[in-house]
Amino acid sequence: MSERLEKGLNMLRQEMDKKVMSFFSSCVRCGVCAEACLFYTETRDPRYTPIYKTEPMRKLWNSEYSFWGRLASKLGISKPMTEADLADWEELVYDGCSMCGRCSMVCPLGVDISMVIFKVKHALAVAGFSPEGLVGAVQRAVDIGSPMGITMKAVLATIKHAEENTGLKIPMDVEGADYLALLSSNEIALYPEYLEALARIFDHAGVSWTLSSEAYEATNAGLQIGNKATAGQLVQRVVDGAEKLKAKNVISPECGHAYTALRWEGPNFIGKAYPFRVVHILELLDELQANGSLKTTGLESDRLTFHDPCSIVRRGGIQAQPRNLLQPIAQNFVEMKDHGSMNWCCGGGGGVSSNERAEELKHTVFNRKKSQIEELEVDAVVTACSNCRMVMEEGIEINEMDIPLLGLTELIAEHLAEKSN
Ligand code: SF4
Ligand code: SF4
Repeated sequence: MSERLEKGLNMLRQEMDKKVMSFFSSCVRCGVCAEACLFYTETRDPRYTPIYKTEPMRKLWNSEYSFWGRLASKLGISKPMTEADLADWEELVYDGCSMCGRCSMVCPLGVDISMVIFKVKHALAVAGFSPEGLVGAVQRAVDIGSPMGITMKAVLATIKHAEENTGLKIPMDVEGADYLALLSSNEIALYPEYLEALARIFDHAGVSWTLSSEAYEATNAGLQIGNKATAGQLVQRVVDGAEKLKAKNVISPECGHAYTALRWEGPNFIGKAYPFRVVHILELLDELQANGSLKTTGLESDRLTFHDPCSIVRRGGIQAQPRNLLQPIAQNFVEMKDHGSMNWCCGGGGGVSSNERAEELKHTVFNRKKSQIEELEVDAVVTACSNCRMVMEEGIEINEMDIPLLGLTELIAEHLAEKSN
């Protein structure tokens, strides 16, 4: 047996907990989860059903934990797993799963299928079965601090432009500030307007905040590739930066997977609780609006809808907040047919958008979002995740849809009321 195969199998064994075992012994193969997965609904390829993506783990469970499987192994009549099997599943779980979690919502047995897929991904990553694009992104995140290779110099240039455009000072390394704000790579490289919006909103609401030169990135390539140790290393960098500045709160940027990594998985990755609160930017804006510190004005007359980023809304529970924020400024707001916790993914989450090999598949599955948008006949789509935004902008361009895509934090910044002091 090759070293890679052995590593992969050992990691699958380590991840085989009671939840996983009960999943495999109770799944009745009803197929309900298949119809919830856009990689299956848009391709009708049975390999993309959620349950099939867990197959390496099921095979191992069957051969080592089930009575009949163990017997078959002993008699030498079952087929052992090979390196080629793991290579096949590498493509399936990295290209054909955005870790959107929609399948987990519909299973009549309450099985968290995406959690099992993540365990498969973790075993593959540890054994070295991961797409090149993601391996490179992880390396850059560890070496430089950013999966896109964005250095502090580039951040400083973005800050300089933001200060020129807003006339406001962007605080850096301020010890004792109430909030430490993090950015995602996309927000630095593609959507610098996000930082300008933060500066405007926090100035308006009187929020004490800072950026950190040691922890400016929230993007977690370790989570995307499925490597828990690397994910923990990147979370620890944020923890160290926040502790150094004695920040009481850390603001996750709009970016969905950054929020999952920091808020929900981070303490598990590093094995301890944080000495600060993690708050998503939309949660914070909603809190500021509720306590009267954030006041917006002016109504958008355009017919607007909201694309729910999976990691923020379904997996993160931030469903009411974006709607609370849109309500005072969007008079013609309409919901997509499947929205909130049952939204459809943009198709690029879970590292799919950083994986060049998955390009064609990503464009195919975007058809679901395309039909959702087209049937509403809206003037613009609002969203709150820089990765969704990038993937959807690409899909809109490729499909010649001619529809603007707006970032929610920036939209709020455009509607700030005059300061009353
Ligand atoms: S919905 Fe649940 S029980 Fe049905 S096939 Fe999927 S995992 Fe199995
Ligand atoms: S997590 Fe999303 S993309 Fe992955 S199998 Fe489930 S429904 Fe499909």
